[in-house]
Amino acid sequence: MFLGYFGWTSTAPGILGEILTAPLNVNAMTWRTCPAATELETVVIDWLRQWVGLSDDFGGVVYDTASVGIMHALATAREEAAPSTRILGLANRDLPRLRIYTSDQAHSGVDKAAIALGIGEENVVRVSSDDQFRMDVNSLGHNVVQDRQKGFHPMAAVATVGTTSTASVDPVPEIAKICRDEKMWLHIDGAYGGGFAMVPEYESVRQGWDLADSIVINPHKTVFVPLDFSVLYVRGLERLRRVFTLVPEYLRGDTLEAEKNYMDYGIQLGRRFRALKAWVIWRSLGRDGIVARLKEQIRLANLLASWIQGDDRFELAAPVSMGVICFRFLGRDAALRHPIGAARRPYQKQNHLDELNSQIVERINASGRAYLTHTKLRGQTVMRIGLGNILTTEEHLHTAWEIIRETAKALSISGAQ
Ligand code: PLP
Repeated sequence: MFLGYFGWTSTAPGILGEILTAPLNVNAMTWRTCPAATELETVVIDWLRQWVGLSDDFGGVVYDTASVGIMHALATAREEAAPSTRILGLANRDLPRLRIYTSDQAHSGVDKAAIALGIGEENVVRVSSDDQFRMDVNSLGHNVVQDRQKGFHPMAAVATVGTTSTASVDPVPEIAKICRDEKMWLHIDGAYGGGFAMVPEYESVRQGWDLADSIVINPHKTVFVPLDFSVLYVRGLERLRRVFTLVPEYLRGDTLEAEKNYMDYGIQLGRRFRALKAWVIWRSLGRDGIVARLKEQIRLANLLASWIQGDDRFELAAPVSMGVICFRFLGRDAALRHPIGAARRPYQKQNHLDELNSQIVERINASGRAYLTHTKLRGQTVMRIGLGNILTTEEHLHTAWEIIRETAKALSISGAQ
């Protein structure tokens, strides 16, 4: 009954993979410290690349999380925008302010990357999104032009495929065009949505990917690998290596003659054997098994949406995308109903509704019968369900829907509205 966040899931083969990994306790920092870990990492990275339809110009590396992947991608972008930053740093150099563009729906990992890289939170420009919560490309173009006039250096754009609140998908091909014209790095945050590119119905989400410089995908969100397992792909992986390779004397012997030492592709030296659990589970489910399960999530998400639409006390608050459903309780006041994405209406009652929707979530979570989250869309509090657990069935969802309706009714009768 856990329906919060992105419902990351553990599976029996995934658990087995972890059980095998722990006692081996190998270090995947160099090829020589564990050839099997290095080779298997390369194998699973390449499987996923092929499954999501990314060209072989892209090479990858496994990190713990997407936030770390985004930071490494933007570090590479920073080096290309301001060469020698690796050696000289950013301070006391005649450099313009570097700017990063991402939508107002993008994940906070972009801001954290800017903090860590010395670019600064204020230099992350939050581009407005359209009525479907996708980055507005005209606003992006406008922001870039304005920044150039101010003497700033547009460094990178981060497009999201599967945003955190609504799983909306930014228009990557159009964003890619602006990036090419403006010589900006294009990173795609496919932490959640990237895995859905495996599903034929969602193939369109991969449009424009081959024009990107980097993309991050979290198999620990959508491809059934237990936490943590995230892959960063870079077009021309050598670009990432140039920024991070550094071989101290005490590691030199270990790196001789090796084709690949994954320590060269990030700040981490010691690395877990993460590839083993991915290999076990992907071998076990197979590509078709993964796709079948993702399709089931999509079916369940649409089914819940149909129940919501069939009850006039509720409304969908965003288009249903992948396994994410955002919705809002309105009570009996149909006058408050408004189309998805429309500007918030100046009803005093909206505040009560915001409060009521948060209370419904809190009451359900406190009961321990189910778990969901809330988010804010265009200033309004909405409830959010993120499917993803491999064990979630239609029956669970139906029970959750009954709990939501019953809790909403009880709270609105008790006077919260
Ligand atoms: N990007 C998106 C779109 C996300 O939704 C999330 C997490 O939910 C992240 C990045 C960060 O992922 P991680 O927890 O792997 O750092």
